[in-house]
Amino acid sequence: MAKNIQAIRGMNDYLPEETAFWQRVEGTLKDVLASYGYSEIRLPIVEQTPLFQRAIGKITDVVEKEMYTFSDRNGDSLTLRPEGTAGCVRAGIEHGLLYNQEQRLWYAGPMFRYERPQKGRYRQFYQMGAEVFGQQGPDVDAELILLTARWWRALGISEHVSLELNSIGSLAARARYRKALVAFLVQHENLLDDDCRRRMHTNPIRVLDTKNPDVQTLLNDAPLLTDYLVDDSRSHFSGLCNFLDLAGIPYTINPRLVRGLDYYNCTVFEWITTSLGPQGTVCGGGRYDILVEQLGGRATPAVGFAMGLERLVLLVQTVNPCFASSSRVDAYLVAANDNDKGATLMLAEQLRDALPSLRLMTNYGGGSFKKQFSRANKYGAHVALILGESKTVQQQVILKDLVTGSQERLAKSDVAARLTVILGSKRKDL
Ligand code: ATP
Ligand code: MG
Repeated sequence: MAKNIQAIRGMNDYLPEETAFWQRVEGTLKDVLASYGYSEIRLPIVEQTPLFQRAIGKITDVVEKEMYTFSDRNGDSLTLRPEGTAGCVRAGIEHGLLYNQEQRLWYAGPMFRYERPQKGRYRQFYQMGAEVFGQQGPDVDAELILLTARWWRALGISEHVSLELNSIGSLAARARYRKALVAFLVQHENLLDDDCRRRMHTNPIRVLDTKNPDVQTLLNDAPLLTDYLVDDSRSHFSGLCNFLDLAGIPYTINPRLVRGLDYYNCTVFEWITTSLGPQGTVCGGGRYDILVEQLGGRATPAVGFAMGLERLVLLVQTVNPCFASSSRVDAYLVAANDNDKGATLMLAEQLRDALPSLRLMTNYGGGSFKKQFSRANKYGAHVALILGESKTVQQQVILKDLVTGSQERLAKSDVAARLTVILGSKRKDL
């Protein structure tokens, strides 16, 4: 027999037990984005390869080793998007959304990186991100951080994430710093790994982003980028810190935080957790004031972040597992075997008309009452409705509260009102 075809390594299926939790998390995230006036933008998952090379930078992990790049049938080089910002800027320029305008956008969807799969690191993973164009002050950097802090509160994970901040200054400052850093790295070349030794000449600041613990220790003695910043960057950064102090958001300044993509300048930040093992960065972002121009648009200040949804969901499941209740339905409609199937379908439709947000599941295919009730329990229903046999003229419905065990007999026309009363404390929107 032919071997079963399986999913590609590092690309996950999310099964129904899992998607309910995801939907609750995503719903909460979207509500908070809406409360700050952000609008959704939906972008293709495939773009022309040069877009990512120009935006992210050629000497970065993502572009050097992680992209899924292939030739289209007509020979164009295309890439499955490894992140969302490049496509968002491309679309903003293409549709004239950026120059001299203000945009507050969010996106969510799958990203692709050829990495070694492990907990919290996959080859297809989901990100939700936000981007603000047209604002250059630190107040908008602060707003993005406050928005994420509100997310953590809404998800009940505030105690498990902490904020790290840094300023990496302007291109000019980084060019001055680069000389000092290279001089230091050359002195200690024998302690670097192959990757770092290569980057030392091509993109030395990337060395600061190394995951190699020995090199990280060495870097404790390296010159600090902070010492090379000009006044503008310093005052932008202290402005941001003041806003965060005002809002009571704790943070740690990490002078070695540089982030893995080349387009950032000035503010960079990461929300990290120690509750997930080595894959501890849940969300990261910063300013990228030069990217729009670099991709062919007119200079537009910009700031944004991206968050890994798998890591976020894992964190919520670990530290706040009750966040999404397991119940899939409110009510389960049980039918006597010799019942008129049309009457059962119609009752369910009438109840959905009356209570649009009711989650009602109907039993099909018969089965004993015992079997049908055990299905009602399996789906976490609060109430079972039993439609009486259709022989009787005034067909009645027995409503059984599966939580208290109490039972009552109702006319069909009274069921919706009774459900509102019983489920009202749990489903305020009914
Ligand atoms: P890391 O240092 O963990 O590789 P990164 O710096 O490459 O992260 P970004 O490019 O800034 O990450 O992406 C933003 C967020 O997307 C990360 O903080 C993380 O939560 C998530 N993320 C990145 N790569 C993956 C992946 N391969 N699988 C799952 N989530 C990921
Ligand atoms: Mg990475």
